[in-house]
Amino acid sequence: MAEKKETNEKMEAIIALCKRRGFVYQGSEIYGGLAGTWDYGPLGVALKKNIENLWWKMFVDDREDMYGIDAAILMNPNAWIASGHVGGFSDPLVECTKCKKRFRADLLTDKTKCPECQGTLGEERQFNMMFKTNIGATEGEGSITYLRPETAGGMFVNYKNVVDSIHPKLPFGLGQIGKAFRNEIAPRDFIFRVRELEQMEVEYFVHPKTWEEHFELWRKEMWRFIEAVGIDKSHVHELEVGDGDRAHYSKRTIDFEYDFPFGRKELYGLAYRTDFDLKSHQEGSKVNLEYYDEETKEKFLPHVIEPSLGVGRTMLAVLSEAYTEDEMGGEKRVYLKFNSALAPTLVAVFPLLKNKPELVAKAREVYAMLKNKLGRVSFDDNGNIGKRYRRQDEIGTPYCVTIDFDTLGEEKPEYKDTVTLRNRDTGTQERVLISDLVAKLK
Ligand code: ATP
Repeated sequence: MAEKKETNEKMEAIIALCKRRGFVYQGSEIYGGLAGTWDYGPLGVALKKNIENLWWKMFVDDREDMYGIDAAILMNPNAWIASGHVGGFSDPLVECTKCKKRFRADLLTDKTKCPECQGTLGEERQFNMMFKTNIGATEGEGSITYLRPETAGGMFVNYKNVVDSIHPKLPFGLGQIGKAFRNEIAPRDFIFRVRELEQMEVEYFVHPKTWEEHFELWRKEMWRFIEAVGIDKSHVHELEVGDGDRAHYSKRTIDFEYDFPFGRKELYGLAYRTDFDLKSHQEGSKVNLEYYDEETKEKFLPHVIEPSLGVGRTMLAVLSEAYTEDEMGGEKRVYLKFNSALAPTLVAVFPLLKNKPELVAKAREVYAMLKNKLGRVSFDDNGNIGKRYRRQDEIGTPYCVTIDFDTLGEEKPEYKDTVTLRNRDTGTQERVLISDLVAKLK
């Protein structure tokens, strides 16, 4: 019990920090919110972009066999009929006969009793999670389409376009980052389960005989990414998903589960989608999607390995890893231990006092130089220096640079053109020559 309280407290502290410091706000907050939606503030956008850029670099740009895609969210509804989503993208739903609250049956330990009011739960039924919408000025059967529930679909329908325009050799993959929408029965746990989410997905096309080899290679890549974003690998656990529990398109799935403060839950999925999607789209569209191998003269439908990573869940895991409380200078301190690849701000530059024009001018000069060389640099002259350190610690800035009177060399000429460089994690400060700063920070 005590442990549960502790972990809930951690979650609450993370949510409060996210709001206080401009990472994540409740969606439509001034109207009382909208369940399952969250808005990313200035710091959250920066963190999210750093996660996405790192994924794009590792999964697309650094590889010769990967190509980017940015497909439309709205697609011809026949694509979702062919892919099986209209018929089968559903979760089991139960409703309480007393309080009328709805729950996802597969997440309940007791499927007969309402976890909120102890009333009796009704019959289980399948609830399709796709958001329906109408396209064009007239509403009716013919105008219905869906907001995509996964980014994957846009890659399967563009597979032939890429083959015909880029002529990649098998094996090759498509990578996409984008929004997906799921009308989750019970959105919960902050940004963990939302109705409007963002995914970073790869559809990797292989010869059917080689799927196991490529499954293993992508499995390793996923672990490499987990490490690169600063998640302790001992907090992530692979789960082989059993026969009855896999998505309708998958012959093998490994879930990567993370020890979130509210329990061990899915972070990412790795699926072997066979030729299910290309075959279904070939039948649905009546367009031949076979790959022709010029060397072997073989014609076949490639099979697909899909590493699927949620942006929000990555961010939540990264925040859970980074959130740290300690004591510094006899006071309690909260800070985010982001690694340098992800920190929204890499260095913050301060003039010791904001009412001394000579200090401000020098600090502005150092700021401009660092900003130009390192990009993620901010300028802060608000409040006393202790408060500024505290603020930067809370948003996870690894380094702070302070320009003081010694920088100007007024009293101690030997310190001229040096600044103090403070380390977030240890709080230690050292004097560094301005001309050495970039090399030192890199
Ligand atoms: P869950 O079992 O938690 O509902 P899932 O198995 O349906 O997840 P997938 O369809 O495999 O999830 O989606 C791939 C990835 O997209 C997930 O591993 C997760 O990172 C992310 N994701 C899926 N649904 C959501 C959601 N509702 N909110 C946030 N992220 C999500």
